[in-house]
Amino acid sequence: MKIAVIGTGYVGLVTGTCFAETGNQVICVDVNEEKIEALKKGITPIYEPGLEVLLTRNIREERISFTNDLEAAVQDALVIFLALPTPSGEDGSADLKYVLQVAAQLGDLITSYRVVVNKSTVPVGTAEKVAAILSEKLPAELFDVVSNPEFLREGVAVDDFLKPERVVVGAGSERAAKIMEELYNPFVRQGNPVYFMDTRSAEMTKYAANSFLAMKISFMNEIANLCERTGANVDWVRIGIGSDQRIGKRFLFPGIGYGGSCFPKDVLALNLTAKEHAYDFKLLQSVLEVNRLQKGRIIEKLRAYFRNELNGKLLAVWGLAFKPETDDIRDAPSIDIIEALLAEGATVKVYDPVAMDNIHRKFGDQLGYSANQYEALQDADALLILTEWSEFRNPDFEKMKMQLKTPVVFDGRNVYALEKMKEQGFYYESMGRNTVP
Ligand code: NAD
Repeated sequence: MKIAVIGTGYVGLVTGTCFAETGNQVICVDVNEEKIEALKKGITPIYEPGLEVLLTRNIREERISFTNDLEAAVQDALVIFLALPTPSGEDGSADLKYVLQVAAQLGDLITSYRVVVNKSTVPVGTAEKVAAILSEKLPAELFDVVSNPEFLREGVAVDDFLKPERVVVGAGSERAAKIMEELYNPFVRQGNPVYFMDTRSAEMTKYAANSFLAMKISFMNEIANLCERTGANVDWVRIGIGSDQRIGKRFLFPGIGYGGSCFPKDVLALNLTAKEHAYDFKLLQSVLEVNRLQKGRIIEKLRAYFRNELNGKLLAVWGLAFKPETDDIRDAPSIDIIEALLAEGATVKVYDPVAMDNIHRKFGDQLGYSANQYEALQDADALLILTEWSEFRNPDFEKMKMQLKTPVVFDGRNVYALEKMKEQGFYYESMGRNTVP
């Protein structure tokens, strides 16, 4: 099948590459010329495990190509995927300008039947808006609009796309549904479901999924905060509740609040959708508030330890990406935390295995940048762990102690066992567990 993917970011590039991998002819479009030039050479502009290997293979086999020219891309493509940004607007609603602009352009470019598939996360009713825009220029028989929200997780995006737990397709016509079924068949050969539904339900499914997961995180952060006050250990509580299948083991890790390019903006957008429909979604508002407060907890711990004197302290930070295995720092808790530390007069030295370029673009010379995790510790008054990269899990503790001015660790991700830190002689504070004095 011939496919165009418009927007070649985390979602678009993975989508395009994986559809090429199953034999389709894919053309990816982006307005960013630098990105397209790099991709033509097989260089991925993002860090995503496994992606570059698939990409170079499909470029070599001539199943995927890249262009800045939208017209050329949609000329032959039967299916046109929109994988465009939907960032938070000023009021927290999803900003649809990219999606609606491209829809308007497509209205001028489509000349025979096309399926326009929205992969971006968009509020309920957007498929209808896109269809209305296309209808201004095109007769109804020339297009169908499908909602096909994406559930991939950055860091394991290729795997998630190739073996999805489920695929959700909101389609109003049999014809479009059949085409989508054909396209996704190779990915669900082990029997995972493709759910066909109306477009509004498909759009809502994505927001409900992300909001539920964000709620799970906020809930565990509240439990962790209460554990600290009651002397319980959240590690045990997490294991204790996670083995109940109704709850499930995953997404029960407390920390410094959820971040990334999806949860924060999607929870906000769903809350706004509720408001627009005169519904007071109390639970969601609490999820947002708990998350906002949680990002400040580690700062409160530092303030208490340093007796409100962060001014002049040298602090090392390990981990900047919003989670391991990605270079994405969009809405990462590390940003808020670093900004708060700088505002209080601390000097901050950072290290992350892959997010250094992105954080440098954001903070410039306000921070010190280290070539490796140990260099960041040199003469630091304390270490903060903000992303649980696996290379931080079994470090050389002796080397850490030699580099740090004082052996003090504030761990926002509960990377180490309390016993271990006691044995090694660190002062160690983590989330929802007793302090190792
Ligand atoms: P991204 O910012 O990484 O990529 C978007 C791309 O679109 C950029 O390369 C940008 O240059 C390009 N673009 C902007 N305007 C364009 C235009 N007019 N024509 C062509 N290209 C244009 O975004 P992303 O993370 O891939 O997210 C895309 C959508 O998918 C969002 O709605 C997001 O919520 C959703 N989503 C993201 C994830 C994720 O993990 N990143 C997962 C599921 C769903």
